[in-house]
Amino acid sequence: MKKVDYIIVGQGIAGTCMALKLLKEKKSFFVIDNHFHKASAIAAGIYNPVVLKRFSIVWNAAKQIERLREVFTDFEQLLNKKYIYNFPVYRIFNDEQEKKTWLKKATTHPDLIDYLSTDTQQLNDFLSIKEPIGSGEVLNTGRIDLTNLLQDFKNYLDENNLFLDEKFDFDLLKITGDSTNYKDIEAERIIFSEGYNILNNPYFKNLPIIGVKGEVLKVKTNAVLPEAVVKGKEFLMPLEDGNYFVGATYDRDNVNYDNTTEAKDYLVNGVKQFLNDEVEVIEQKASIRPTVIDRRPIIGEHPTIKQLICLNGMGTRGTMLAPVMVDKLYNFLEHNLPIDKEADIARFYNRFN
Ligand SMILES: Cc1cc2nc3c(=O)[nH]c(=O)nc-3n(C[C@H](O)[C@H](O)[C@H](O)COP(=O)(O)OP(=O)(O)OC[C@H]3O[C@@H](n4cnc5c(N)ncnc54)[C@H](O)[C@@H]3O)c2cc1C
Repeated sequence: MKKVDYIIVGQGIAGTCMALKLLKEKKSFFVIDNHFHKASAIAAGIYNPVVLKRFSIVWNAAKQIERLREVFTDFEQLLNKKYIYNFPVYRIFNDEQEKKTWLKKATTHPDLIDYLSTDTQQLNDFLSIKEPIGSGEVLNTGRIDLTNLLQDFKNYLDENNLFLDEKFDFDLLKITGDSTNYKDIEAERIIFSEGYNILNNPYFKNLPIIGVKGEVLKVKTNAVLPEAVVKGKEFLMPLEDGNYFVGATYDRDNVNYDNTTEAKDYLVNGVKQFLNDEVEVIEQKASIRPTVIDRRPIIGEHPTIKQLICLNGMGTRGTMLAPVMVDKLYNFLEHNLPIDKEADIARFYNRFN
């Protein structure tokens, strides 16, 4: 029997950040993942403190961005590769009223002053971009290359015999006193970071996780574009291979992993609204975001089986949320510190009866 402090089920961005934390804290663990659809691997990985629909600040944005930079720098050092790409996000205005609102918030709103630029003509030199009313630049933004990071980290875990490439089988889980047994592993606790698939977890399936399907494209274009995310109806983002990422759809009604022609056309048309050049689609992907009824993550322990832990509900913003949520969860588990009530699983304990 192998004895460890933790088993982590699910190596998306949540489980990956948790594993890094355990490595740093010198805790023993195994990660289990069967590479069943991983939302994190197809995500753009954009981090952006501003909600671009309403020009409002994201919950706890400053703290999340600060921690994100530290944690992904740690990954860069551990794996000796670049994953952080700092570049701006430009939001093309739809009308004069939007521009007016932006400028007002950029100059008077205490939470937004640091993040909204007042220069609204920065894309003027890019003739491929149609922006008759201008665009606003969000500062302190960028992208984490999650696709490569997750694969490289999986390889690292493999090399160190910390990874089990399999589906976690609940029939083989035995809860014993204050510990757990899974196959030949005895673990003090099991952290479930299964993304949307948590709805198939018999212990946590009643949590109010709402799947939001997202489809994205990789496209080729000859347009001369800035090293930035350009967001009109949809967004275009440069990739390391010279191609561009186009995203993303939000579908709550058809929650599956299939690519659809409708989404492809929708995304291409969304880009054409602000791009004069043609785009050629070279790849399409789909996955499901684990969102929560009240738009906050869900972390903490099962109400009656304290060895079973939930790390989920990263929703549409796993890149920014995961590093901070992992810290909170770790401090709760190892130092008995309380979890912020907005993110605490306890707010849903009434669903476990
Ligand atoms: C199209 C799209 C674009 C997005 N863009 C962004 C973005 O730009 N910025 C941003 O911050 N967020 C973005 N997101 C949201 C982000 O992807 C999610 O918040 C995040 O991926 C959730 O991470 P997770 O680790 O909880 O789940 P996942 O990444 O889904 O990982 C869960 C893992 O658990 C494994 N698993 C599940 N059940 C089992 C089991 N029984 N046994 C073994 N393994 C199991 C799965 O194989 C998977 O690897 C986007 C999402 C989508 C779909």
